[in-house]
Order: sequence, then C-alpha cells, then structure tokens
Amino acid sequence: PRSGFCSSNFTFYSKRTPFPLPSNHSLDITTFISSYPHHGKTAFIDATTGRHLSFPDLWRAVDSVSTCLSDLGIRKGNVVLIISPNSIFFPIVCLSVMHLGAIITTSNPINTSREIAIQMADSKPVLVFTTSQVVPKLAGSSLPIVLLDDERLTTEATSQVKIVTTINEMMEKGATGQIPVRDRVYQDEAASLLYSSGTTGASKGVISSHRNLISLMQFFPYLTFPGEGEQTHICTVPMFHIYGFGAFAIGKLTTGSKVVILSKFDMNEMLSAVEKYRVTCLPLVPPILLTLVKEADRIRKKYDLSSLQSIVCGGAPLGKDLIDRFLEKFPTVEIRQGYALTESTGFGASMHRAEECRKYGSVGLLSPNLEAKIIDPGTGTALNVNQRGELWVRSPSVMKGYLNNAEATATTVDSEGWLKTGDLCYIDDDGYVYVVDRLKEVIKYKGFQVPPAELEALLLSHPHISDAAVIPIPDDEVGQYPMAYVVRKNGSNVTGAQVMDFISKQVAAYKRIRKVAFVSSIPKNPSGKILRRELIRLATSKI
Ligand code: AMP
Repeated sequence: PRSGFCSSNFTFYSKRTPFPLPSNHSLDITTFISSYPHHGKTAFIDATTGRHLSFPDLWRAVDSVSTCLSDLGIRKGNVVLIISPNSIFFPIVCLSVMHLGAIITTSNPINTSREIAIQMADSKPVLVFTTSQVVPKLAGSSLPIVLLDDERLTTEATSQVKIVTTINEMMEKGATGQIPVRDRVYQDEAASLLYSSGTTGASKGVISSHRNLISLMQFFPYLTFPGEGEQTHICTVPMFHIYGFGAFAIGKLTTGSKVVILSKFDMNEMLSAVEKYRVTCLPLVPPILLTLVKEADRIRKKYDLSSLQSIVCGGAPLGKDLIDRFLEKFPTVEIRQGYALTESTGFGASMHRAEECRKYGSVGLLSPNLEAKIIDPGTGTALNVNQRGELWVRSPSVMKGYLNNAEATATTVDSEGWLKTGDLCYIDDDGYVYVVDRLKEVIKYKGFQVPPAELEALLLSHPHISDAAVIPIPDDEVGQYPMAYVVRKNGSNVTGAQVMDFISKQVAAYKRIRKVAFVSSIPKNPSGKILRRELIRLATSKI
C-alpha cells in the first residue's frame, strides 16, 4: 500500500514515525517537561521588559509558585483562571497550576466582564491570576486574585475585589526549596481547559488531559528541524489560545529553544524584536502575513530581518497566491503551514522539512500517532485519497471532552475516539492534507473564534429583534468577519447601526458584527436549524 494510506478501511496513517508515550500512569505534564533540563539555556525573553528567564530560573519559579498555590489550598481538580496578555509569567502560572493536578483555564484579556462572567460560571475557578488592567472587569467577584504586575490599583478597584498576593511575591516567597504538598496526578486527568465552540453552538471548555499535553510536548523535540534546540522563536500569538499555549507557553520547553514573548501583537514591536533578538522562527496567522507582504518594501528598509529562517502559519486558510507573493518578497524564508484544533490539543498537520514546505496550499503531513478519515458529510461513508469530505482524526491528543456538556462531547467525539473536525479536507497521494472549507459554524476573525450562536443569542435579547442568524463574510484583511441577518419585530424600525452598537457594547472587539441586513425570515430546516449555507450564498452573491 502507499505509505501513509491504508486501503482496507480508508484510514490514513501519519507518514511520520510514531513515538511511544510514557507508560507510567502517574505523571503530570510539568514533571514530564522538567525531565528535559536544558541547563543554563534561556527559556524565555520578555520583549517588553527585556527580562530573560533561564531554564533553571523557570523551574525555580514553578517550584515557588506551586508551593504558594498549595499553601493557598489549591488541590487536584481545582480550576485556576488566568486572564492575561502574553507574559513571562504565563508559562510559570500554567506549569505551577498543572503540577498540582489543578486545571488551568484561560480567557482573552480583552473579553468584556459579561464574557468573563459567563466563562467563570461555567468553569468555576477558585483563584484568578490577572493584571491590574483586567481587575475592574472582575469587580464584585469574591474570588481570590493574584496580580501579575505591580501596577498600583485605584482604591476603588481594590475595594471591589480580593487581591491576595502578586506573582512576584509568590516567586520570592517560595524560593526556599520547599516541596509543595500535592496529590498524585495521573496522565488521564484534566490539565487544561481552553475554550472553543467546536462544530456548533457557544464556546465550551475543552478538557485536555496531562496525557494529551504530554503527547504534544513529546512531539516537539521529535519533529524538530535541524538545529531546533538553537532556534529563537517569537510568540506573537495569544497564550490563552491553543496556538500560543501549546506551541509557546509550554511548547518549546522540551526542545530547549528560546521563546521571545510579545505581550500582544503589534507589527512594529514584532519586527523590532525579530531584529533585536535575531529571531529565526515567526508564528503568524494569514492576515498578518498579508500585511507583511503589502508592506514588504518599507519593512525591509527599516528592519534587519536577516535572522529569519521560517514563518509558521496556522489558524486559518492560507492561499497559494499569498504564499507566492510572500516568497517573492522574502525568498530566503520558508513558510511552514500548520493545522490544528483546540479539541485535538494542537495536533493535526504540519510541515517540517524544506521539501514539505513546497506542497503549497497544503497544511502538511498528519501529526505522528494520528489517524485520519475523510468522511462524506452526506452519506457518512469513508472516502479515498483526493476525495473531499469532513476530516476525522484519532490520536492520544484528542481532548477528554467538553466541560458540562456530555451531548456536545458525544456528537464531536464518537465512541471509537474519532474527533469530527468540522473541516472539509482532502488528503493527496503523498499524505498531505488540504483544508478546502469549513463545514462548522465558527467564524475566524484574524484567527480568533467568533461563535455565531453566541451573537445570535445576544441579538435575540434585543427588544426589537424577533429572529437572527450570523454568518461569516470572507475578507482578505481579517480572514472572515461576522455579518447578521436580522428579522425586525412588527412595527420596529431598528437600524443596522443600532444593532451593531447593541452587540459591540457586550462583546470583545474581534466578535463585533460588522454588517447587518434585514430579512423577513431566517431560512431554517424542518427541525429549526438555521440554513447558514443559504445565507452565505445570499451574502456572497451580493458582495
Ligand atoms: P481553534 O480551535 O481555534 O484552533 O480552531 C480550529 C479551526 O481553525 C480548525 O478546525 C480550522 O477550521 C481552522 N484552522 C486551523 N488551522 C488552519 C489552517 N492552517 N487552514 C485552514 N483552517 C485552519
């Protein structure tokens, strides 16, 4: 049979050599990662402060913070929330929490207080790590807060929340070599809880186990391209999302390469940091790559980007056309595409060797230890090479399930462990995966998830709206943006601007509805499901 393909049951196997996972049941992700010591090398550099954190410093900090957390009563199974821009503390907090068998959950720092409250009601954290900027959004919460900065808060802000300590205090206090009191942690227990809307509905907590994360971490040193341990990566993608969390907050620690952390994406800061720290590998989402191409001449004049060897691009589709334009401007830089989901804990497909990068338009070869099927969405039958259908994947990295949502878990992961990705894909003769379209509802604005169901529920809470549907509109600059089809209540003359304003007050900026059209009814199937394809066709025919 062709390599990477098994004809008997239409299952595709990864062409990459499988690797065995550690067999000891009792193992947490932090202990696993710390078994790759890397001695005196630098693990992280904070681009904002210039602070360097070596591997020994990192592990000392993790010991200190987990001891303090344990002293605060954090135990196995407790959920701890971090709401923060990227920082050098992000990995320290995540590793410390997971070391105790507690579960780290993350939230976008630009979320509104309403969005944060919804996530807190679902995940029930017992402690929050956050920055002084976010604190006002937590006003009225009785949860203990650990501040991730030493900014002075106004008396009003401090009087409305319960700040117990700061990360700096924790890092200093625990440096006594004390071993934290901790329960025995097993590989199949929950480690992280990142939010994703999956194939349908609102955002849900994705439970990834220590084993899921271990399989990802073990993959990084295994996949490495030549000299990976000597690479300097820059983390521009958010650490609250699987991309930044899996690949950078903890991802590179097994390889021994360096990660320069940017607190948030800013083109000029990013390019300055690439020049200053001689960054070799840059992760991006397609809209940013487009900006790099458009401004290439100005950028090359202003910044020395000669250290750059590769760009890793993921999160959304990247067309061949854009790749060609990029390579014209930056011929010595390789573009490695990657495809992953929160639900597969960052596993999917990726490119490593130079010849793999030349499969333009593809997202690379299946990750090791991963099996795939291409399923005809109409008939449910498994398809052959070069045939388009929904990609299903199975691997040790597939999530345990969604929090508090057995129904969504059962429809997403079947009884044999196949995760339905909701992506329309095909796999070619050589085992390369191509993402053709998205069958699931989620809209990706600059790589951020915008669940239509959440916006539709908000629209329905408007006193003048009787029905609504939200769909993606393709856009070169941002990937996709949300558009709403709205049915007004009888006698209402609410305007599009009023509808957009109503939503933008309640959601983070990237979720804003950017276009509204009024209709007399929303097309639905007999069971009441919105016929989004019909609306997408209607909207795109008018663009
Ligand atoms: P998330 O869980 O936020 O990482 O979203 C995962 C989804 O993002 C996938 O199911 C795809 O729909 C989309 N996605 C991720 N990477 C790519 C890619 N390289 N090309 C096309 N779509 C992608």
